[in-house]
Amino acid sequence: MYFRWTAPLSARHYARVSFFLTLLACWLAGTPSWAASVERVEVKHDRIVVKFDAAVVDASMFMLAGPNRIALDITGATPGGRTDAGGPIRAVRQAARGEQGARVVFDLSQPAIVTEGSFASDGRELTLELRTVDDASFARAAAEGRMSFLPPFSNFTAAAAPRRYELSIPVPKPSKTMLLPTVYGDDSRPLVVIDAGHGGVDPGAISPDSGLREKDVTLRIARAIRDELLRSGRVRVALTRDDDRFLILQERYGIARKLKANLFISIHCDSVGAGLASGASVYTLSEVASDKESARLAARENKADIISGVNLGDTTTDISSILIDLTQRETMNSSASFARLLGREAQPLIPVKANFHRMASLVVLKAPDMPSILFETGYISNPSDAAFIDSPDGRKRIAQSVRRAVEVHFARRLASN
Ligand code: ZN
Repeated sequence: MYFRWTAPLSARHYARVSFFLTLLACWLAGTPSWAASVERVEVKHDRIVVKFDAAVVDASMFMLAGPNRIALDITGATPGGRTDAGGPIRAVRQAARGEQGARVVFDLSQPAIVTEGSFASDGRELTLELRTVDDASFARAAAEGRMSFLPPFSNFTAAAAPRRYELSIPVPKPSKTMLLPTVYGDDSRPLVVIDAGHGGVDPGAISPDSGLREKDVTLRIARAIRDELLRSGRVRVALTRDDDRFLILQERYGIARKLKANLFISIHCDSVGAGLASGASVYTLSEVASDKESARLAARENKADIISGVNLGDTTTDISSILIDLTQRETMNSSASFARLLGREAQPLIPVKANFHRMASLVVLKAPDMPSILFETGYISNPSDAAFIDSPDGRKRIAQSVRRAVEVHFARRLASN
């Protein structure tokens, strides 16, 4: 991969050269060439708007400190077009990233982080919300890695898709002998399945200070969310487990699919070996992890099926490379929009990370037809996080965040039908 910055004067020339190099590279590699190019980059004081002349494949961003920058990678686009700096952004630069697409770098005159990002319904415009912060918050956000954005499914054409999206994996059918849990609530309401992570022989992460086990914390939180959702009366609720039992990952979403759930929420607690990381985050499915930390988390959570060296899950599933069918994109987008909603509702109630929404190849989120998220409610490895998420007040606040996001999510679905 070649990678060079454009000087402002040669931008057009370089874009043209890089476009032909990309075409050549794509032709040699046998992958389709990108149909879109960057048309315009506008910066306002609280947002960045990037316009394309056609729909792109996806985008992701990360922040870098010293000097402070925001980098935006766009898959399926070539650099080009007019750029305007403004607000906290001093300068905008673009470069081609070989076969990957384009990179746009925003040089910051004061620390600012991207809190959210979304594509317009035609997939030709990406808006990133900016918030100016202090140096410490910027450094924290920069340490959290990549944030990814997907355009709406309807604009994602097979022609623009790299080959890997055309592959699919068989999703194991729920076993016939599966014991289905009780469904609470009014039959006419949509169903939310809450999955308390880990259980039985799998304790999940364990607090080094108190010995608190993730499987116990997640069960108490799952019950609190169930009770809060049932009080609202807007949805039906089922728990994948309501006691200390072991379930393989496929059984968890398998139960939800068999019940024809409309939304699947897996509850977990994060953990790190060293340091005092804190705050909640939410994960949705992606075939590639959005950053190193997401890859680490996926490795740990996916391990739940491997107890005492015996893999109890589907041995044919290669969890290191989950390939996602094109048809799954709509579900992925719906999951991502619920994740953002949960971030919005959780922020005033519980401590959350600046980069709340991430992506990882998590087996438990693999159902192709059911919006699914994995909610890391806080760090069990951090004494103050652990005390909060396992307190009655903490549970109530977590449950309220979920209830509010669930209400808005289904209200929107109802309105769009
Ligand atoms: Zn977990």
